[in-house]
Amino acid sequence: MEGYDVVVIGAGNGGLTASAGLAQKGFNVLLLERHNVPGGCATSFCRGRFEFEVALHQLSGMGTPEKPGPLRMMLDNLGVLDDLEFVEMDDLYHVAMPDGFRLTLKTSKDQVISELQEMFPHEKESIERFFDLVYSYANQMLAAFYFKDPDASREKYPLLYSHAFKPAIDVLDELFSDPLLKAVVSVYWGFLGLPPTRLSFAYLAMLFFVFIEFKPFHLKGGSQALSNGLINRFLSSGGTVRFNCGAKKIIVEDGAVKGVITEDGDHIPANHVIANASQVSTYVQLIDPENVPNETLREMRGRTLSPSAFVMFVGFDCEASQLGITDSTTFLMANTDITDRNLNRMQRLDIDDELMVLSCYDVADPDFSPPGTCQANIVTLKYGDPWLRVPPSDYHRVKYRCGEAMLRRVEDIFPDVRKHIEELEVATPLTHMRYLGHPNGAIYGFEQYTKDSLFFQPGRFSPIGGLYFASGWTGDCGFQSTLEAGLSAANSIIKKPNL
Ligand SMILES: Cc1cc2nc3c(=O)[nH]c(=O)nc-3n(C[C@H](O)[C@H](O)[C@H](O)COP(=O)(O)OP(=O)(O)OC[C@H]3O[C@@H](n4cnc5c(N)ncnc54)[C@H](O)[C@@H]3O)c2cc1C
Repeated sequence: MEGYDVVVIGAGNGGLTASAGLAQKGFNVLLLERHNVPGGCATSFCRGRFEFEVALHQLSGMGTPEKPGPLRMMLDNLGVLDDLEFVEMDDLYHVAMPDGFRLTLKTSKDQVISELQEMFPHEKESIERFFDLVYSYANQMLAAFYFKDPDASREKYPLLYSHAFKPAIDVLDELFSDPLLKAVVSVYWGFLGLPPTRLSFAYLAMLFFVFIEFKPFHLKGGSQALSNGLINRFLSSGGTVRFNCGAKKIIVEDGAVKGVITEDGDHIPANHVIANASQVSTYVQLIDPENVPNETLREMRGRTLSPSAFVMFVGFDCEASQLGITDSTTFLMANTDITDRNLNRMQRLDIDDELMVLSCYDVADPDFSPPGTCQANIVTLKYGDPWLRVPPSDYHRVKYRCGEAMLRRVEDIFPDVRKHIEELEVATPLTHMRYLGHPNGAIYGFEQYTKDSLFFQPGRFSPIGGLYFASGWTGDCGFQSTLEAGLSAANSIIKKPNL
């Protein structure tokens, strides 16, 4: 069997950018993907006349041509930027509660502050101080961490040191007294997987910062267009891809990678492997146990899996405005609870008062769905464990029972949705498990508790020679981070001497 310089396992974001980056530099790369399309989470599927977006709600790090963000620059370097059309969203998010509370935050810092101050005049100064803190923290973080200041110290970056490991709730409690305000400004926890009691302030601050500075985006054609652009770039640079072809084994001899065996039984020699598959399946299923250092397994056992998601994809036979949907991103908040009770909610099977996010791509891009229609993607975070205990014979009944409960929550805010449904599909944690191959269908890799947060992540390297990681399992999750992780893994190989 023909050998390759590098075999990449998985065509999710990290696998795609790693493959494209290496092929562009002349490496002979084979990309193996178990599914029949590229993208992993970054994909779409069709039902009736709708093409549904699977994962992307808001893309961070893009910026505008005039003020490019890191992701725009990266995609430009990869040569895919001109093949894609990005759509800027003009709201950060809208928050809606069944009691009639409504608030939209636009995307400029001044607007966010004034919209919040108008709604919460009794917390006027604290709101100002919160965003000063977000910006000061983000600037210190960028200087010390991303630009790798060699002289970083507690004295030079006091906020970074005092707030990096602080739970977001501590900051909210210090600054605000109104529970509704605390819930509204921390609602992005729904994108990060942990409630503010567990989430490091660092994540909340950085998310606000990147979305305000570089604006939230979506893409014409959805995230599948991005995945298609990357795979086309890979193929035109001489890369080889095999779909419907999972990796079954990574061959390791004397502590170093020697090749990959596919699920079809092909033996492919290679001295470098980049795993976009989860770190768990790579170390536990793909590599024989005697070749995985005990320390690596011990370190991995200390981590916990992130939640998966329950997602409803709905195609409507009318335009978004007819349903009362006026913003791209609406958080449906049943209460102001931001405590650990949210972990219990994510652990239970049924849907009741969970935080949900509803994205309607047609608001920013009226051509997203067929003329006269629109679509919504509604997500709530759920751990995989309870779904694994559902007997197969009950699965459909439980799935649609939960879907019905989710729909009722949407109706609380947009009462007319039910009568305009043309297509509806539901994905559970088991769906994510099936299509991504991740344990328990975890969509954000390992949970990003403070001890496992960006400051302590294991990174793209492995103790096994020639094995690298490029995914949300060894770094931060989200589109921007995983796309960056792929290129970073590619660069580790490109920069190796004697290759
Ligand atoms: C519902 C949902 C909503 C989200 N919303 C957002 C959002 O709004 N903004 C944002 O930035 N992020 C969002 N995310 C997160 C983001 O989509 C992910 O962090 C990111 O896409 C993960 O990329 P990845 O590189 O880790 O690969 P993944 O997408 O996890 O893909 C891994 C790939 O590896 C393949 N694979 C696994 N094992 C094998 C094997 N043995 N052989 C071959 N192939 C294999 C799988 O088939 C899959 O294609 C969302 C995710 C979900 C699920």
